[in-house]
Parts: sequence; structure tokens; C-alpha cells
Amino acid sequence: MINFIQICMGCGGKCCFNANPPLSSRRIKILLENGVSVDKIDFNKYPHPKTRGDGYCIFFENGKCTIHHIKPETCVAGPFTFDLRNNILEIYLKKDEICPLAKYLRENLEVYEKQFKLAVENITRLIEDLDSEVLAEILKIDEPETFKVAEIPLNPKGRFQLNFNQYLIMLLTVITNMTMSLNLHCLHRFSSLIHTCSILL
Ligand code: SF4
Repeated sequence: MINFIQICMGCGGKCCFNANPPLSSRRIKILLENGVSVDKIDFNKYPHPKTRGDGYCIFFENGKCTIHHIKPETCVAGPFTFDLRNNILEIYLKKDEICPLAKYLRENLEVYEKQFKLAVENITRLIEDLDSEVLAEILKIDEPETFKVAEIPLNPKGRFQLNFNQYLIMLLTVITNMTMSLNLHCLHRFSSLIHTCSILL
């Protein structure tokens, strides 16, 4: 299997340009415990890594993330992004034109499935960890060049809370979006998608 880093290095790390990934208190603690200086964090509006003069994240060097093993949740989740409306977690995927990793995922459904699960886990943890004011600030950020791939109901603490009907709605949303955006050969991986949804419960 091709390494994600190879694909990301090939594109030059566009997602690390003007990225401003949110940092929860828990993530800041992890960064500081791993030797990251607090000077590298910008607390304006919401905590996020500072941006260098060339527009890239301060942790982006030589085409790579220097804090890969402890990078923020939204960086781990990429190329999936999120929005939150009325306690429905909306998961979006970047368009192929701006992200070669998204294209790779859509052509390799098993990898898509793993990354989708990882993204949802990280995003829900981030939502749980953030103060409501900080979360509100983050939700103002537009995510252009993406399309919705799933809707997942959350309970007030940000955890999954699916009854059977909600499970069916989520399953249908995922399948509809996947079949609209993927090649037809992916249809035979239907059972794999069901497995993904089951894991999320
Ligand atoms: S933390 Fe790492 S992956 Fe995230 S934007 Fe910065 S350099 Fe990129």
C-alpha cells in the first residue's frame, strides 16, 4: 500500500498552507510535553499553530509535518473535514482537484474506510475537548472545495448517539454520497461500508 506521506509530499503539503488547525487544551498539553515551545502557538481567536511568513504552518518543514506523531486532530482527519449543525456532525471530503490523497482514498475503499473512521474518532474527540466559544469560532471557518460524505448525530457531549433510524439515515447518506462520487466498481464494496458504520456505533 502506498504511504500517505508519499502522496502528500507529491502535492507539496497544500493542506498545511493557511491551515490553522485548532488546538484543544489537551492537544496543547501533549505538544508542550513533547518539547514544542508555547511560542509556536497563536492564541488569536482560537489556539492554533502560528503561520510562517510564507503562509505555511510553523510545523511544516521540507515538505513534512515535524510533529506528525502528535499533530492536531483535524490534521490527522485530513482530507476529511467537518461541520456541526444542530448536533449533527457533518463530514466532508476534499475534492480531488485540490487533494491527491482524497482521490487515492476514493479509489481504494478499504483505505477510505480506515481513514474515515480515524477522522470521525479524532473530530469527535476534538469537539468534546473544545470549549463551546472556541468551537463556535472554528465553525465559522469555511471549507471550500469539499463535498459532504456523511451525517452523524451526536449527543450533547459530542459522542455518537445513534438509534436504529439514525443509523439507517447515516448509512444511506454515506452510501448515497459514496456511490455518487465513486466509480461503480466500488458498489461491490457495499458490505465494507456497512462494516464501517457498524464500527462507529
Ligand atoms: S500541524 Fe503538521 S499537518 Fe497540521 S498543518 Fe501544521 S504542518 Fe501541516
